[in-house]
Amino acid sequence: MSERRKIGIMGGTFDPIHNGHLLAADEAHAALGLSEVIFVPTGQPPHKANQKVTSAEERYIMAEMATANCPYFTVSRIEIDRAGESYTIDTLRTLHSMPEYKDVLFYFITGLDAVLNIMTWKNPEEIIQMCSFVAVSRYGYSHNRVELLPQDLRDKIIPLEIPLLAISSTELRERIRTGRSIKFMVPAAVEQFIMKKSLYKH
Ligand code: ATP
Ligand code: MG
Repeated sequence: MSERRKIGIMGGTFDPIHNGHLLAADEAHAALGLSEVIFVPTGQPPHKANQKVTSAEERYIMAEMATANCPYFTVSRIEIDRAGESYTIDTLRTLHSMPEYKDVLFYFITGLDAVLNIMTWKNPEEIIQMCSFVAVSRYGYSHNRVELLPQDLRDKIIPLEIPLLAISSTELRERIRTGRSIKFMVPAAVEQFIMKKSLYKH
């Protein structure tokens, strides 16, 4: 019997997408033998309701540009095209129901900061049944914190040490606002798009 296909899901606001996201996805791809990593930009992120978020369309375009030169990275409009707030549980249900993803094992890739919040997501118990988690290193977060999570979630977490890139979208937005360089932190096409559209200036 052939092995089940493994697919990574990289969810995020991607405001903007940066090299930390790309490195995390690439390391997970190699370590777990994933056939593909699907980047899923959130439509309306429920946990970022009180902050200004760039339009879904612009965040989607940046994700497409950032992943264009990598054959095993794709970008999905699944959350952007869905009305209302974006919940991971809805995305997993949709992906599981798609004929092309029949019999696939899904690996949700998250930084160690995000993995610690999973129990606050909508329907965490059902999420845990639908995918495994790849918890990649993130600057400032230790793998020890995972031990504080409930056992049924911990059973689904695969810790993955990756080279630390201490980059966050928050810091990138702050750098742009204060006129500092973001070169080498994001793909060149993303940097050019941000400048062309005057994103994150205010
Ligand atoms: P923000 O500062 O706006 O929260 P962010 O850089 O954390 O932005 P998100 O879109 O919130 O980016 O994150 C999407 C996913 O990518 C999360 O699971 C997050 O932990 C992970 N991630 C973000 N930056 C890195 C990084 N530098 N290294 C590894 N993982 C990262
Ligand atoms: Mg974040």
